[in-house]
Amino acid sequence: MTRPGEVVLATNNPKKLKELRRILTAAGLDITVLGLRDVAPYPEPEETERTFEGNAFLKAEAAMRATGKLAVADDSGLEVDELNGMPGVRSARWAGPACDDDDNNALLLAQLDGVPAERRTGRFVCALAMVAPDGERRVWHGRMPGRITDLPAGENGFGYDPLFIPAGMSVTSAELTAEEKDSISHRGIAVRAFVDYLKGL
Ligand code: IMP
Repeated sequence: MTRPGEVVLATNNPKKLKELRRILTAAGLDITVLGLRDVAPYPEPEETERTFEGNAFLKAEAAMRATGKLAVADDSGLEVDELNGMPGVRSARWAGPACDDDDNNALLLAQLDGVPAERRTGRFVCALAMVAPDGERRVWHGRMPGRITDLPAGENGFGYDPLFIPAGMSVTSAELTAEEKDSISHRGIAVRAFVDYLKGL
């Protein structure tokens, strides 16, 4: 495969688009990143797989088929050891189909009620899948280990960030700047691996 001039990132999330553009520019690559709002609408697939990788491939494959362009998609979530790796692929809707981040965080805290600090370990994980028009398929993974606090803190980030203290830190990932979080985050790690791959083309 030769280096593409355009990449579709199968997301509606402007933060994810900005992040990929920022990392591509920092790597000196002149590649246009299109989000789902920049391409003709198509039916987005349901995330029906049991793994992050499976769901990321569903989204990337659908985007490549709809646009004919190189497509990438990520799927991510929080694995909590005390909950046998859940919420996992169900992270976004852990408290039910119509829940928001606050509902999810409240449920997670309730589920870990009384669990001591040393057993509140977990990690954010991300799979970033690529599907190319020539049939090439690749996936990159990223992890950010840490632990679940018992009191939310911080206003930055999203999702479970106010409850998550990255390993080796004393603040939550919601207390980090976007750049600080990118430099250690599951998604930052996976996205930089993809950008390294593009650099090698
Ligand atoms: P998605 O892959 O962007 O759909 O994220 C799935 C869900 O996992 C989000 O709705 C959050 O609940 C959770 N999640 C994934 N990454 C993060 C993160 O960096 N911080 C906090 N929550 C996250």
